Amino acid sequence: MAPTPLIRTGLLAIQPLKRRHCAECRRGPLSLLVIEDTEPRCLDCADLGHLVFLPRGDTALTRRAREGSGLSAVVVRFNRRQGRYERQGVLVEEAALARAEERCLADAEARARRRARDAARRAMEDVRFTAAFADEIRRLFPGCPDERSRAIAAHASVRGSGRVGRSAAGRALSSVAVTAAVVAAVRHTDTPYDRLLMSGVPRGEARRRIAPAVEAVLRAWQGPGRAGWRSEGVAV
Ligand SMILES: [Zn+2]
Repeated sequence: MAPTPLIRTGLLAIQPLKRRHCAECRRGPLSLLVIEDTEPRCLDCADLGHLVFLPRGDTALTRRAREGSGLSAVVVRFNRRQGRYERQGVLVEEAALARAEERCLADAEARARRRARDAARRAMEDVRFTAAFADEIRRLFPGCPDERSRAIAAHASVRGSGRVGRSAAGRALSSVAVTAAVVAAVRHTDTPYDRLLMSGVPRGEARRRIAPAVEAVLRAWQGPGRAGWRSEGVAV
């Protein structure tokens, strides 16, 4: 019989479909056997009794356990429908499995630590970005109350929201992007814009109606001594 690729990988243990007994010690029926000289033998008689079964499924654990195991075997079962043997897992030394589990656990812990570091760094970036955004709002609109500039900056820089603060322009803190965030906030907070939209007024018409109110707030926030409210290319 031509050897299958499975057999060439090393020792093979079989989960028998039929009731089989050990040809040497007569124990049985066997849940796992090894064929020696065409006859089934139990794992103890085949000197594999000290190995432990590791079911398939965790590739890294399996690879490490086999690498660390002086003696190991592949466990297969015949699939009648497919007409071939299918891998069920491996038999490995218990100490090798324990070491492999420790290494996989260490990897998982290292990954978890790295994720925590990444999250902390992103949170720090968010804090810095929001602070810089609020500073820029105060520079452009000195009359804007602190809690408003902080709220607008925080709202605009919510991670992943796709809001203006997260856009490339907002990232670069361009005055256009910062002004756009302020205009949006004023529109929703200081004017009846939302109420108009809810009552069915078309957006363009609603924006036209509230434009004077928005401009008044922005002019007040810009403070005296300025040339007056310039839209910076932002539609009010
Ligand atoms: Zn036996």
